[in-house]
Amino acid sequence: MEIDIDGLLNLPNREVLDSSFSEKRVTIILKCVTASGFCPVCGIETKRVRCYTSRVVRDLAILGRKTYLQIENRQFECQDCVRYFTEDIEILHGNHGLTTRYEAHLYEQRAQSRTQRISRG
Ligand SMILES: [Zn+2]
Repeated sequence: MEIDIDGLLNLPNREVLDSSFSEKRVTIILKCVTASGFCPVCGIETKRVRCYTSRVVRDLAILGRKTYLQIENRQFECQDCVRYFTEDIEILHGNHGLTTRYEAHLYEQRAQSRTQRISRG
């Protein structure tokens, strides 16, 4: 049986390229499925990729193993205003190195332990 990791991760515009795991850690490498980006200055669509980089961010744990996503992050060149821009990664919020759902999970955990402390008095 094969597990549909793409379906499980449920991330917009991303596709699993590779994955690996050890006793304590899962790493999933993702590529972007959209071919183009939109210039944040003039709004024009461009397919000209200047370079490929990647970011490693923490996501929700899988079966108790720390899980990291290595996300392809492209820099495009706008042919219209001749600027370079890096595409947005929808599942990240700021520069924290955490996915938004992992951040939400941490927040929930903190709120829960606070409630427990209060109820214990
Ligand atoms: Zn532009």
